[in-house]
Amino acid sequence: MIKVPEGIPIARPKIGSAGKTGLWRVERPEIHYDKCTKCRLCVLYCPENTIDLLENLYPQIDYDYCKGCGVCAQVCPTKAIEMVKEVK
Ligand code: SF4
Ligand code: SF4
Repeated sequence: MIKVPEGIPIARPKIGSAGKTGLWRVERPEIHYDKCTKCRLCVLYCPENTIDLLENLYPQIDYDYCKGCGVCAQVCPTKAIEMVKEVK
């Protein structure tokens, strides 16, 4: 493992680091909880860090910040996340 010297700046993405999404998202992810195994891969891979865990450890998406990129759906091993057309 590479040891980063002290004082070197490291990017630490924050929730909604690119700001609130607004109205431009064209697709949104929907979670089918009947297929979810709580593996948390979607939480780890979301580039916007907008997926949290509920008390029962199922993931929950914050649609204020989700950009609809589809990464979560791509990495989900059980295809529990479906990208659907955004309804305005
Ligand atoms: S669509 Fe992209 S931004 Fe939205 S929850 Fe999935 S990975 Fe995160
Ligand atoms: S990646 Fe899929 S199976 Fe894993 S926690 Fe997310 S929705 Fe559930």
